[in-house]
Amino acid sequence: MQTVAQILHALQAGEISSREITADVLARIERLDPQVHAFLTVTPEAALQAAAEADRQRLAARRAGQTPPPLLGLPLAVKDVLSTRGIRTTCGSRILDNYIPPFDATAVQRLKAAGAIIVGKTNTDEFAMGSSTENSAYGVTHNPWDLERVPGGSSGGSAAAVAARMVPVALGTDTGGSVRQPASFCGVTGLKPTYGRISRYGLIAYGSSLDTVGVLTQTAEDAALFLHLMAGQDPLDATSMDVPRPPQRLEGREDLRGLKIGVPREYFTEGIQPAVARAVHAALDVMADLGAAIEETSLPHTEYAVPVYYLIATAEASANLARFDGIRYGPRAQAEQMWDVFFRTRGQYFGPEVKRRIMLGTYALSAGYYDAYYGQAQKVRTLIKRDFEEAFEQVDLIAAPVAPTTAFRIGQHSGDPLSMYLEDVFTLPANLSGVPGVSFPVGFDDLGLPIGMQLMGPHFQETRLLHAAHIYQQATDWHRHQPDLLAGD
Ligand code: GLN
Repeated sequence: MQTVAQILHALQAGEISSREITADVLARIERLDPQVHAFLTVTPEAALQAAAEADRQRLAARRAGQTPPPLLGLPLAVKDVLSTRGIRTTCGSRILDNYIPPFDATAVQRLKAAGAIIVGKTNTDEFAMGSSTENSAYGVTHNPWDLERVPGGSSGGSAAAVAARMVPVALGTDTGGSVRQPASFCGVTGLKPTYGRISRYGLIAYGSSLDTVGVLTQTAEDAALFLHLMAGQDPLDATSMDVPRPPQRLEGREDLRGLKIGVPREYFTEGIQPAVARAVHAALDVMADLGAAIEETSLPHTEYAVPVYYLIATAEASANLARFDGIRYGPRAQAEQMWDVFFRTRGQYFGPEVKRRIMLGTYALSAGYYDAYYGQAQKVRTLIKRDFEEAFEQVDLIAAPVAPTTAFRIGQHSGDPLSMYLEDVFTLPANLSGVPGVSFPVGFDDLGLPIGMQLMGPHFQETRLLHAAHIYQQATDWHRHQPDLLAGD
């Protein structure tokens, strides 16, 4: 599978039609997805019809001497927590088993307006709560690099679909690492934009003060194009910001000269797998050779990120998930009394992790415990945010591992929620402070599993981090490696 940039180039040059590339994508999904299970829904008829229409539109534009929309005819996969008009959207939950949204999420709508074609919806932990896709009610996604291992999560389906080269690009969401960590586990590039950069309208809410829409691609260059197309204020999301859209292309920089990259000492602690630390340091050496100045920095409140996040995210989730009551959406349990309808529906159709989080969040918000838990977490969140503000007075970017380990075995953490939560330690701080982060491949461990590294930057400086990742990708080829699953492809 080519990159988005290559496919768009071939479409524009008339070397390939949208019907051909869409049929190729669908054939790959048919061949590989029985092993990977990245998709919850595939929409072949609608996709092929849209592709034929895109080919007609391109021809008409050419004849009229007009420029066609930038993504015209490009196939795309969408995480199943983003609303897609007319296409089942489950959030990986039985409680939305039969839900078909009557509208598109703004991010999806903007990409459709740019000509993209949805080929399917990807697997996710239920309501994006998890780090492995094991919490999906529809079965786990398998990591294309080792089918016995998780792809990460919660956007594990999107990461696996791009890693297995079933699609050139997939949308994800990142509330506490759900784009960056699966990107790292699957050897692809994942962008989590600044909070407020892309509208959350139509993203089925998990933690509203943390949720962001992101994208998984093979290259930083492709991520920049999608950021450009999805970014911008939206009257339907009051937290979307009115700031200039980042540019479509990463131009005007040949190397990393003049860039100061800080490496926080708190991110290289005991629990980190030695191969991960080694690969990140090797990548920093490459960046130094490319002209960057690397220096140690500190984010002193990092150790509080896990407890703070798991109080705030669960508190917000407990409020957001109140709407799933069996009346407005999805299946309904039968009972005589109204309250029993609510109880039974929620009891039957929410999975165990979602119930655990609703209980945690409700407890953290309850009278008598609010100040001790939720209120305290909000204060420490401010300290974590300040850590970044202070660090960014000294450095332009912060470089760190994405996760302490490479992809773990299916089942390894599933009996122990706390050990799963601890996997998120390096990704949560960016969500708590709202800053952007990009994850990209920088090597492999002894088992041949991909290792990712992340760059974080000040609010709305996505282009700075994507540009640095792009320069790195031009000097290295980690992002071009493909899983053995594709041998002979
Ligand atoms: N793993 C984290 C959680 O379970 C983050 C998930 C996410 O970013 N959606 O909440």
